[in-house]
Formats: sequence, C-alpha cells, structure tokens
Amino acid sequence: MPKLQFSTSRVWITPVLLMVSIVCMAQAPTPEPVTDQETQLGQAVYDELRNKGEIIESSPLYEALKPITEAISRRAQPRYNHPFKFFLVHEKQPNAFATPGGNVYVVDSLLYFVKNTEQLAGTLCHEVSHTIHHDAVHRMQEQQRIEMRELGAAILLGPGLAQMIAITMLGDLQSNAYSREVESAADVTGSDICAATGYNPWGLIWLFQEFQDADPKQIPELLSDHPANGTRIQTLEKHFRDNPEVFAKFNPNPKSATPLIVPKDAAEQFLPPSGH
Ligand SMILES: [Zn+2]
Repeated sequence: MPKLQFSTSRVWITPVLLMVSIVCMAQAPTPEPVTDQETQLGQAVYDELRNKGEIIESSPLYEALKPITEAISRRAQPRYNHPFKFFLVHEKQPNAFATPGGNVYVVDSLLYFVKNTEQLAGTLCHEVSHTIHHDAVHRMQEQQRIEMRELGAAILLGPGLAQMIAITMLGDLQSNAYSREVESAADVTGSDICAATGYNPWGLIWLFQEFQDADPKQIPELLSDHPANGTRIQTLEKHFRDNPEVFAKFNPNPKSATPLIVPKDAAEQFLPPSGH
C-alpha cells in the first residue's frame, strides 16, 4: 500500500513540473498575417531572421519584457494600423529595431545592457515610433533601390522582390542609422508614448548620457548608430520644457530609476528555420 502511494504521487508530480517549466518559458508571438505591403515586408524580414536562426521562440526573458511591451503597445497602437509584436532575437550587439508591419526585435543582451527599466522602455518607445513614422519604408524609397511606384502601391509585392527588399532593409536596420532628423523625430514621438505609459521618458536621455564620452569602439551599435546624441538630448529636453503639462512630473535624475529585473543566464529556445 505505501509503495502504491509513492508511485501515485510521482505520477502526479511529473505533469505539474512540466506545466511549471512551460509557464516559465514565455513564448514569442506569431507574426501578423500578410494583408498589405507593410505586413508583407515585415513577414519577409521575419522569415529572414528566422532562417538565420536568430528568433528566440521561448525564454523567461519574455516575462521580463512583457509588462513594458504591453504598456507601450496599449499607448502606441492607436497610432499604427497593425498590432505591435515584440520578438527576442540573438545577435552580437545589444540592439533593438522595428520593421514595417508592427514587429519589433529586441536583442537578448539589450536586457542585460540597459541599466534600468526606463532606459529599456525609452529604447522600445523610440523603435515603435520609427514604425509609426513609416521610416523604414521611406528610407527604401529614398535610396531608390526599388521603384517608387512599386513600394507604397496598394498591391502586394512579388515574393522575390519582397525578399530582396527585406534583406536590404534588415541590413540597414541592423547597422545604419537614420538621419539625425528622423532619429530625433522618433525620440520625440517615443517620449510622448513613454510619458503616456508612465515610464519616465528621461530614460532614453540617461542612456545617451552614459555613452557621450565613451570610446566609439566600446559603444554598441544601438547608440553609435544613432548620431549626434548631444543634439538629440537637446531636442528631447526642449520638447519636455515646451510641454510641461506632460513632462514636468517626471524626475530627470537617473537615481530615481526603477531597476530592471532580468533572470540571470535565462534559457533560450530558437525557432527552427521555416524552410522556405
Ligand atoms: Zn532610431
């Protein structure tokens, strides 16, 4: 009889342990179905990242990210016509970038690189603002690597062309900054979104300030790609001064920051290549 009890409890414990481990490994969202050129380009970039094995399918890091991305999505969503979705990716440099269609990619090491919640929130608010401003699509049009009439039209691109644009776009997003004006515009819109969520919009300024005097080789792409941080700080500070009803309540002192709690050495499972 005691023997039977023991084996019964073991049978019961195993599924519970399995459930616990599944609950802790929060999952990546799935991309939005393709309905227009922006979602099509977003999907093509997603396929590219997935085929390179960079997209993290599940990790406890998603749990750390979720409260921030949910708050940002709630405030940013009315300004964009596709749902914002945040994916963790594994790359060499701490970074974040946003594609047309609403997908935002956050490099896993960024969660360890930022000093506090406000710096991470500020970075993500900045990235969703690039999407809201359609910056990636505008840059592709300006570079004239593709015909204007093809990008921006209401029709879907041929799959080969979509993939070609996506590869160029991804390379640009990973390593080339937008112009100072475009970056500053994303900073300003991002600060409005962050302020609306309640995350202190000074977080992005704190991030810039930390690297102002650093050796350029030591600065991660996220910041070295964003030129003229001094000018960008000034633009943001002016925006805060000009709109005291929104920004005066936030503390400019980084000592008021909220620590970001991230599990150490978090496990990561990658999405396997989709095979197309
Ligand atoms: Zn930017």
